[in-house]
Formats: sequence, C-alpha cells, structure tokens
Amino acid sequence: MSDYREMWEKLGLDLQAHDGLLEILPPLYRETILSQENRPKGMEYFDFVFSEIHGLRVKELVDHRAQGGLVVGTFCTYVPEELIIAAGGICVGLCAGAQVAEEATEQYLPRNLCALIKSSLGFKLAKVCPYIESCDLLVGETTCDGKKKYYEILGQFQPVHVMELPQRKDDVDRALWRSEVRRLAERLEELAGRKIEPESLREAIKVVNEKRRALLRLAELRKSDPPVISGRDALLINQIAFYDDPKRLAEKVNALCDELEERREKGIAIGGAHRPRLLLSGCPMAIPNWKLPAIIETSGALVAMDEMCTGIRYFRHLVSEEAADLEGMLDAIADRYLRIDCAVFTPNRERIEHIKELVGDYSIDAVVYYALQFCDPYTVEAFLISQELEKEGIPFLYLETDYSTEDVGQLSTRVQALVEMLTSG
Ligand code: SF4
Ligand code: SF4
Repeated sequence: MSDYREMWEKLGLDLQAHDGLLEILPPLYRETILSQENRPKGMEYFDFVFSEIHGLRVKELVDHRAQGGLVVGTFCTYVPEELIIAAGGICVGLCAGAQVAEEATEQYLPRNLCALIKSSLGFKLAKVCPYIESCDLLVGETTCDGKKKYYEILGQFQPVHVMELPQRKDDVDRALWRSEVRRLAERLEELAGRKIEPESLREAIKVVNEKRRALLRLAELRKSDPPVISGRDALLINQIAFYDDPKRLAEKVNALCDELEERREKGIAIGGAHRPRLLLSGCPMAIPNWKLPAIIETSGALVAMDEMCTGIRYFRHLVSEEAADLEGMLDAIADRYLRIDCAVFTPNRERIEHIKELVGDYSIDAVVYYALQFCDPYTVEAFLISQELEKEGIPFLYLETDYSTEDVGQLSTRVQALVEMLTSG
C-alpha cells in the first residue's frame, strides 16, 4: 500500500491503533481468501480493492470531498443509495465485522448487544475507520431497537439522520416510508446545497440497478453444479459492493461473470468432488467477518447462496425505471426498498417464501442459520423458518455466534457433523 499516513492523520485516525488493525487484516485475508485454490483471474480486482481497503478508495472519498462532493455513510440496506448519488454524493456502507475497542465500547453500550452494533461504535471510538471519518452524514434507520438507540449515542460524535422504517407493509406504512424517503432527499439537498434533479435521480437509479444486475448475474452463476465460484469469494464481492464505486464494481463483476461462464463451458470447477450445497441465512456478515463461510468451506461443503443483507437481499429487487417525473421516481424508490424482507418486519412471510425458493433454485442440501447473539429479530424469526423447512424435509442448522474466534472449534464440529450427515446418506 502506498503511504497514506498523512491522509489518515488528517482524517483524525489514531495511527498507532490503525497500524495494529492493518497488521491483522492481511494474514486473515491470506488464510481465508487467498488460500483457496484455482480462483478465477477476475478475483484479482477484488483482492486489489481489499488490499487498498484503507488506501485508494478512501483517497477517492477525500478527493471527492475536496471537489465539493458529499460522502454519506449507511448501516443498512434500507437506505436508498440512489438519493445519495443523485445529490452528488458517494454512499459507503460502513462495515462493522470485527471486534474493536471492546472495553471502551462497553462504557457506552451494554455487553449483551449484537456484535455488529458494538463493532460499529468500536471502530468510531478507536478512530480506526477512515470511512466513517470521511462522512459528512451518517444515515441510520429504525430497524431493530439496539440500532435505533445506538444512533442517539453515535449522534454525539457525528451528524446522524435517522429514517423511520415502518415494521409492517400496509398502505399506512408505505405512506410513512414514502415520506421518509422524501425527508432524506431534503436533508441531502440541504447538505449538498443543490436540488436533486429528475435527470440526476434517473441516472442514479440506472447506475445502482446496473450494479444490482451484475450481482444478480453472479448470483445466477452460483446455481452451477459443480460450482464456478466459492461462497467466500462471492461474499467478498458483496461486501466490497457496499463501498466501491458502483459503476466500476458492475464492470468488474460483469468481467468476472464472462470468465465464469467460460470456465463453466470448459468444465473448470472450484474444488474437487461434489460437496453439499448450503444456504447461509441470517444476520449480515460485514467485512472482514468470514468466520462461518470459511468453516463451512474448509469442512467439505459449499456456500451456494447467502440469504442475508450481505447476500442476495442487497440486490434482488431493482428500482423501476419507468417513472416519468421526480415524484414517480421517489415512489419507485420507496416501493423497492420496502420490499426488502428483513426480520425486523412483521409478519415477514416473504422471507420464509424466499428461503424456500432459494432452496429449490440453488439445489440446496441444508440451510445454515447464522444468528448473531442478542439479535432478537433474527434469533426469534429462526423458529418459524426452521418449522417451515422441517415440513419440507430440509435440514436446518442453527448457529449462534459473535465476532470472537473462541467458538471456532465448536462451530466447526457442528458444521462437520452436518456435512457428514449430508454426505453419508
Ligand atoms: S439485517 Fe435488517 S437491519 Fe440489518 S442491514 Fe439488513 S435490513 Fe438492515
Ligand atoms: S444483527 Fe440484529 S441486532 Fe444486530 S443490528 Fe442487525 S438486526 Fe439489529
């Protein structure tokens, strides 16, 4: 990595703590990602982006701000990226996939809160995330209780705008959500000092849809059996999609898909003999959280698809491009985002149906449910999902964990038992 120390210092990072973080990432990446054999050449771009995670992309954000542009951080797939882009901004999904500054975090937050929220504050308190420090605005949402109360604390450090997300999908909820989309647009206009024009919003809708189409194309290729891409590489791409430039990302994902199609035709597969195909479902896995996919894929199985916000939930629905005017586009955006089936909704039948659909479409042998400890929406919703899958005879493995590595042995044992059961039949 080039020398970015001056940039990090200007962003207010704690250089010593930041050096410590950067020392941990490369070995972890080598061990979980680069150690895989026969990876497609198209993954080199994503390896490069990761190697520059706190370098080149952050420099792009800094340069963008120097030219008067906005940088807006988000924590959830409900925040419409299109509005941020149309206001001349760059949207960055703020990762929170590692345990950082635990002691300091516990002075603000209870210990029994999900790892994702604690990690998010940990990065802020430890001053080790150049992304959050580059943001003009952080956009939160009233999804789970932990997050919405956390945003009040985060607001003590940086400007935060919270969108009120309804928890049902009736007409009254849609009307509320539509007004929240408008309210975010107004906040962004105020901050950018410019109006969101219909043409810029139309263009932003196209750009984000193109990114989604590319990711959908990759998702289609994950139906291949034998597989042409590992679950770990697919997850890495999805994680990078939250912060990379959307046009460039779409181009690189499409180039990778061209290569994967070619490899499929030539019969070049990832890994050896047939491996059980698992669906990972549950809480998001923010970068660099690869713990469970690495356990699964080194235990003789494949993560064939991820039903989570760092998986297909992020890109499966497009925004309609039919709207004639600005209000119509805001409607289309509100509609698209309200279709997301996060466990914070009730009832949430769509999610159960979607999981069953994925099981069929991706020839899934078993569902592994990834629940972060203390995450009420996902831990509680697991029951209904397991009940439905049981009716269909689909094996279901519930794993509750956090960001520590202490339970790796225990998780491996349970995953291996599942793999053995699936391969011995
Ligand atoms: S799981 Fe729910 S709350 Fe979390 S990022 Fe996804 S949509 Fe947002
Ligand atoms: S993982 Fe669960 S508890 Fe944590 S932020 Fe997401 S919905 Fe909330």
